[in-house]
Amino acid sequence: MAVKLLRCVYCAREFSFTETEQQYFSEKGYEEPKRCPTCRGRKKENSRDEHDNNGNRREAGNQKNRYYHVSCFACGTQTTIYYRPSPERPALCSGCNQGSYRKRRRF
Ligand SMILES: [Zn+2]
Ligand SMILES: [Zn+2]
Repeated sequence: MAVKLLRCVYCAREFSFTETEQQYFSEKGYEEPKRCPTCRGRKKENSRDEHDNNGNRREAGNQKNRYYHVSCFACGTQTTIYYRPSPERPALCSGCNQGSYRKRRRF
């Protein structure tokens, strides 16, 4: 095995995936990292990648003043919400948030 060069999906820079890391990742059954170490570190501080709908990674911590640009779960309108959307609490625009969307949920 040799050092691999991977491209960060976030900043598009190449970073090295060392032999040790490769071993560690394969032992753990992890996939190759998608982000460079810089972006991985930065993510904890200031996450701006919420618009990539790539998965439901759990992130620790409820930071204040975070917001998400999303489509309303009920009507599809683009909206900004101030909480993390989840299955229990889907993203809703202010209109849908006021009415109880559960009553008119059709799926
Ligand atoms: Zn990066
Ligand atoms: Zn809506």
